[in-house]
Amino acid sequence: MAGEIENKTISINGEVVVPGEHKQVQLNIARLPTGTVIDIPVHVFNGKKAGPTILVQAGLHGDEINGVETLRRMIQDNHFHVKKGAVIVVPILNIFGFIHFSRDVPDGKDVNRSFPGTKTGSLASRIAHTHREWILPQVDYGIDLHTGGSQRHNHPQTRYTVNDDKSKKLAEAFGAPFSFPSRLINGSFRKTTFKMGIPTLVYEAGESMRFDENAIEIGIQGIQNVMANLGMVPKNVSKEPSTTIHLESTRWVRAPRAGMFIPQMENGMKVKKGETLGMVTDTYAKKNKKIKASLDGYILCVNHQAVVNQGDALFHLGR
Ligand SMILES: [Zn+2]
Repeated sequence: MAGEIENKTISINGEVVVPGEHKQVQLNIARLPTGTVIDIPVHVFNGKKAGPTILVQAGLHGDEINGVETLRRMIQDNHFHVKKGAVIVVPILNIFGFIHFSRDVPDGKDVNRSFPGTKTGSLASRIAHTHREWILPQVDYGIDLHTGGSQRHNHPQTRYTVNDDKSKKLAEAFGAPFSFPSRLINGSFRKTTFKMGIPTLVYEAGESMRFDENAIEIGIQGIQNVMANLGMVPKNVSKEPSTTIHLESTRWVRAPRAGMFIPQMENGMKVKKGETLGMVTDTYAKKNKKIKASLDGYILCVNHQAVVNQGDALFHLGR
């Protein structure tokens, strides 16, 4: 086509993916004690015309499986066959954690605290290093899919980097119900991408080891919104644009005493300061302690643990 520039070629681990091509590439990480090779499958969808390259990944924490299912559905339904630019999809980054139902790798290390990693470091550090060497140098934008921890249910929300307007724009385009700025943690994937100049968004929805249909659907829609916003796929004009509520600050409400925790408000709800969110009771019907909202805002996360200790985080609120 006259005047149209062809997209660049993407190359991972010696495998070349030319414009207009979709390939699954294996990124070799390590061997199990039995000799079985552990590869990270990476899908590369290279569009014909020049455009940005986005990385969409899940399973950096192996037990956070909503993102894994989100990307599986998007691959199955051909959502990544972009016209412009390219999409690099990593459905499960921490294969070890995924098969062990664990956030971390077998030695207990968190891959999301091991970036940028080293070639001869711990297993987590080697995964980070391989990712940093083979994938990240080719990426312009990143979307990293996570969930809350065990029993901690996050209402769908995106987190962008403080003082990084480009990542904030990504959050606006994604259109999750809530979004807020988040500091860079040492060793995190997002700190490394920030240093490399790759605006990155973290999507947090649902809880670990449990599928959540709402979280998955909003995730699929959000990634499509970002691709449309970057001009990689046509905009869906028949759909209402998703908008996000920007929150400035967030705060945890903790258990004032140990006991059984009965939440009385739904995740995502708007709350007023002083309003009752739930209660912590003893087991003998003698003492009930009301849990009250500490600010005017929204509920971002609810802890669904039935028995709690003093100081346990119960509700995450944002305003
Ligand atoms: Zn996570």
